[in-house]
Amino acid sequence: MLSSVQKALLFVAATLILIFFQNCGPAGFEPVDGLNFGLQQQLDLPSEEPNPDPTPLEVSEEYATLNSFNDAFPAGDFVDDCLTDDNYNACLVYKDPVSANNGPFAVPLNRANSTPQVELRIFNYGINLPEDGQLTNAHYTIVNPSGTVTEAKADGSWKYSFAGDTNHDVGQVNAFYWLNRQITYMKERTGRFYAENRDITVFAYDDINANAYWSFVDQEIHMGYAPDDPDGDLSVDVSVLAHEAGHGNVYWGTRQQVRGSELCQAGNPNSGPCCPDADGCYDAMNEAIGDIHSFILFNDLPPAIGLYFFNDSDGLRDPAIVQDNNLTAQQVADAAGRRIHNTGLTYSSVWYEIWAKYKAQGNEKVIEEIFTEHIAALDANDNFTSAFDIIETVTPVVDPVNAAQIIQDFQAEYDRLAITRN
Ligand SMILES: [Zn+2]
Repeated sequence: MLSSVQKALLFVAATLILIFFQNCGPAGFEPVDGLNFGLQQQLDLPSEEPNPDPTPLEVSEEYATLNSFNDAFPAGDFVDDCLTDDNYNACLVYKDPVSANNGPFAVPLNRANSTPQVELRIFNYGINLPEDGQLTNAHYTIVNPSGTVTEAKADGSWKYSFAGDTNHDVGQVNAFYWLNRQITYMKERTGRFYAENRDITVFAYDDINANAYWSFVDQEIHMGYAPDDPDGDLSVDVSVLAHEAGHGNVYWGTRQQVRGSELCQAGNPNSGPCCPDADGCYDAMNEAIGDIHSFILFNDLPPAIGLYFFNDSDGLRDPAIVQDNNLTAQQVADAAGRRIHNTGLTYSSVWYEIWAKYKAQGNEKVIEEIFTEHIAALDANDNFTSAFDIIETVTPVVDPVNAAQIIQDFQAEYDRLAITRN
């Protein structure tokens, strides 16, 4: 049993192909003065802003509609045959094409083999976007180094075909909608998204094999393509977008803390950043937090990220496999060679199992709030052990009534994984 999991983890680690954040700069980035994310201030939730547009569009009550790219981004509607439905001018993928397809494709879907029939099925999340304008606002600007920046067609439609999409229009529209939708959703759920209004540039298609990354140096998101498939635009894998934006949320939430971990030295000095032991490190938490952002956003689907990336149901990383296989933190770290991405599965397992437990009771929102608040209390010296102290501190502020029970539940998860606690 363990061997198959180890095999899976090792496969991912060896093939990788790291969905990583770039940490090539100096480790000592200083917090910016004037950005005070003290706990008290974090809990002052922003008040509701009045709708700046008093004249609702005719369709807005019936069909999901965004009037301006500067507004909050509403949820879309699940629509059969969205691409042929004139009530929507944009059709997006929900989470990723494999999830939307209810399983892997016989041949990995890409721009070269896509068909209208497949697209009709998987781009089934409809919304009306503004009929003109560029894909830019205070949060994100989509750029496309390989072609023209996408605009609506002359008739106001954003419906582009993935087949033959050399301009990566589909990826650009999906990236812009979903990255903004994530901000709106996280603010609805937790009151804040630290990486909002940061003017982050998103390279919706970059010429990088089997990778995507958040660059703290430039505050950019770069989306590459699926392993050895330059036609497999990763911008249609929204779970990966959500992960990278999660790095941005950590970066701004922690007052721009950055840490470059030691490199794994097991016979290969270039084998990627590592944690010192099974109790993890900041970089592993950063990776886990990215993955957690994805399962919070797509809360009705299994938690794995990167299903499109590998065209399978397991995806790149799955927070659920740790408990499913009764793994301890030590076993996870050993299987991962202490590399940060899969060592982070220990931490995402803690949060996923807690979150799932509270979701079963309809109370997962409080876990999401604790999650968001705990990000701002992390710093680059933290590991899983010290993160528990932060959770203990933050939880009573978020939910004084239920704090004792919630902390006890976290304690049980730490004990399950045999993570060291202070
Ligand atoms: Zn990452």
